[in-house]
Amino acid sequence: MARYRGPVCRLCRREGMKLFLKGERCYKEKCAIEKRNAPPGQHGGARRRKVRAYGLQLREKQKLRRIYGLLEGQFRRTFDVAQRRKGVTGENLLQLLELRLDNVVYSLGFATSRTQARQLVRHGHIRIDGRRVDIPSFRVRAGMEVAVCEKSKKCVQIREATEFAQGRGVPGWLEIDTESLQGKVLELPARDEIRFPIQEQLIVELYSR
Ligand code: SF4
Repeated sequence: MARYRGPVCRLCRREGMKLFLKGERCYKEKCAIEKRNAPPGQHGGARRRKVRAYGLQLREKQKLRRIYGLLEGQFRRTFDVAQRRKGVTGENLLQLLELRLDNVVYSLGFATSRTQARQLVRHGHIRIDGRRVDIPSFRVRAGMEVAVCEKSKKCVQIREATEFAQGRGVPGWLEIDTESLQGKVLELPARDEIRFPIQEQLIVELYSR
């Protein structure tokens, strides 16, 4: 299955909420959800459909998958890992997604969106404990240091993203030094630190069918 290359605002409109896929634009009035929060399609806003349990579960899964920019197979594999772990599967799933390197780079503010963060990782701009890691799905652990490599510290795009992200704030389980562009994973993210509204239990129910 190929990666989705269509208009990303359409995905937000489909889910009826901001998924923050487009960086700075998501925080401005130009955001499609701010302007017209209706499902995509010519008659999207006028359609009335009966939503069944399966539909709700599917939408919740799609929402989460789209927020983190994963393909169906990648998302399913992450779910399988979450299921094998001790604890509540839904919370394990959210934690695993949060710990992806591309998400950590975004959360630290080195990029304005997870897509941009993924590109930074792939292009080798990110170091973990001093070593280059170019795998966006790399799972960070508590105590690891995530930093922008020396050469890229002058990159205007990264500097601007860091400045912009200061308004967004950094989650409590991460620490950032905006001068040296170095961050640290203080601890594993707790459920209440994952801010967007998602009912992970519906995803567990969907995959348990
Ligand atoms: Fe979604 Fe961002 Fe587009 Fe708004 S601007 S609809 S939040 S991708």
